[in-house]
Amino acid sequence: MHEIGLLYQTAKTASRFAQEHEIERIYAIELEIGELTGVLPDVFEEYFPYVAGQFPVLKDAVLKLDMIEARGICEQCHAVYNIMKHRGICPNCGSSEKMILGGNQMLIRQIEY
Ligand SMILES: [Zn+2]
Repeated sequence: MHEIGLLYQTAKTASRFAQEHEIERIYAIELEIGELTGVLPDVFEEYFPYVAGQFPVLKDAVLKLDMIEARGICEQCHAVYNIMKHRGICPNCGSSEKMILGGNQMLIRQIEY
């Protein structure tokens, strides 16, 4: 389950940020997660308290998730569409040639302290 690894990465990044800025307590971490990462938000929310509990600075932190739509632009007709919804096939011309515009990222958008 790669969610756990990603949670640890997130927790480490946040606690390093706290150290560098002499922050004693982080109250919330806001994450932006693209649909194409395959991350399951439920799993993230379920395991976050367990991971956060191992970092003193994150003891009271909550996790906020923002799922980002997987969007692509068709190489043939240049239509922009939701890749997950249309299973990677352009709804306009039926081509599977595309460029991914978003939805494959995972990043920390905000740290509240
Ligand atoms: Zn197309």
